[in-house]
Amino acid sequence: MKNSNMVHQREWIYGKKNIALLIFSVTLISCSQKKKIDLLVYNAVVYTVDSTFSRAEALAIDKGRILEVGTSADLQGKYDASNEMDVKGKFIYPGFIDAHAHFFGYGLGLRELNLAGTESWEDIMTRLNDFSKNFSKNEWLIGRGWDQNDWSSKEFPDNKKLNEEFPDQPVFLTRIDGHAAIANQKALELAGIKAGDKLTGGEVEVKNGKLTGILIDNAVDLVSSKIPPPSGRRIKEGLLNAQQNCFAVGLTTIDDCGLDYQAILFIDSLQKRGDLKMRIYAMLSDNKPNYDFLFKNGKIKTDRLNVRAFKVYADGALGSRGACLLAPYNDKPHWSGFLLSSQQHFDSIAQILVLKGFQMCTHAIGDSGNRTMLKIYGKYLKGKNDLRWRIEHSQVIAERDFRLFGEYSIIPSVQPTHATSDMYWAASRLGNERIKGAYAYKQLLRQNGWIPLGTDFPVEDISPFKTFYAAVVRKDAKGWPDNGFQFENALTREEAIRGMTLWAAKSNFEETEKGSLEKGKLADFIIADKDLMKAAASELPGINVLATFLGGEKVFEKK
Ligand SMILES: [Zn+2]
Repeated sequence: MKNSNMVHQREWIYGKKNIALLIFSVTLISCSQKKKIDLLVYNAVVYTVDSTFSRAEALAIDKGRILEVGTSADLQGKYDASNEMDVKGKFIYPGFIDAHAHFFGYGLGLRELNLAGTESWEDIMTRLNDFSKNFSKNEWLIGRGWDQNDWSSKEFPDNKKLNEEFPDQPVFLTRIDGHAAIANQKALELAGIKAGDKLTGGEVEVKNGKLTGILIDNAVDLVSSKIPPPSGRRIKEGLLNAQQNCFAVGLTTIDDCGLDYQAILFIDSLQKRGDLKMRIYAMLSDNKPNYDFLFKNGKIKTDRLNVRAFKVYADGALGSRGACLLAPYNDKPHWSGFLLSSQQHFDSIAQILVLKGFQMCTHAIGDSGNRTMLKIYGKYLKGKNDLRWRIEHSQVIAERDFRLFGEYSIIPSVQPTHATSDMYWAASRLGNERIKGAYAYKQLLRQNGWIPLGTDFPVEDISPFKTFYAAVVRKDAKGWPDNGFQFENALTREEAIRGMTLWAAKSNFEETEKGSLEKGKLADFIIADKDLMKAAASELPGINVLATFLGGEKVFEKK
């Protein structure tokens, strides 16, 4: 009895205090002493992606972080924002995190002229003339992607016009498959190529005793190897273009899987100067200078850059039959692919990384490549742990190996668009039995209860909406196949959103600072025109980002 009386008394005292506080705050509000903040976004459908996947209407943001999440009326009553934004019922999500991409490589690629889909040689010349305006005369003009089969003539062009219009500037344009290219006379000169040159495994085309500029197979390398590396200014330009494209599809953090430390230092310098705003989770490539660099300097962590991981390659790709399989390919007897390094190499890397506390992320496609890495990881991780070692792609898994992901808390990092890009031919490589363990995202998700999603751009398109569509619908843009490809491995919409936000953040050890819209987290979010949770399946790939905010700053707005 006595005890319970005391409890009542205590509650009463606390209650009294609360009333006093309430009166105090009412007084504050009536004197219009609303708290001043930077940004208030309201009238939205906010998917917070918190632990209960709750929804809200408004976000109060100050100094780059989320101060409060709540109803429009509540937050409008409490805060006086220098910038207020009525979202008019549109949809807010945490900024998307691409857990596996190649941002730097994509940026470098953007410096080149994209010739895919050109309809004639005249079309190429027009585009090249436009493109050349951004370059000085001593810089190479590089393009790729032409395909004469798309043209009415269907014949290889020659370099006559290139030589007339660019007599002093080297031009090099690769065909779509990379096995042929056309170069102008200046580029051929710089490469030291003359009419009549012979080489094995390639051809330098000559007509009427003159070079046409067409180069086949190994002859392509004679020129491409002479192209000087891009200047810092050009790299920066490429990265800033890449960043703008990524903001436009709602990406605010990108995992760049496999960079040399010099590239990371370059990114860091651009970020520190405020030029590059994109947040980057960078994995260092598997080579000695990179290990030496990070072991000596330790992990790098700023608001925009996180370096604590190494990217290792176990095997190649399925399409080219480079993936390492446990049994021969279905469409190539006696051939099972191969590992890209010895088991001892992978073992020694795992041993040193576990000792030094770095994350290991290994590209593994085939079921043998995956098993090799799961076992080596397991040897050093021993049992359940929180080291978040990742297997990038985790593409083909033998039935009895799935459990190893859970047993050793190994994180499968997957790219759902690979499933819908490969579904036309994957079964011919793997056969109808083995393919059941391929692109098995739901089965992989079950092992640890979470799974990060990515795109692998520029191998695939940069759009996270395509990732979402592939993950939940498992069909191509035309709606094929009717029931979805191995639909038992589709993710739910909530799972896919988590995979592109909070779970991706977690795979980067960043779940306390981003990946959901909660008090104290970075104000990285997007406004979309449709509801990812409710839009018709066919609408999903085409959802538009209306605005992207990074640290409370608007970095993209749809015109
Ligand atoms: Zn990749």
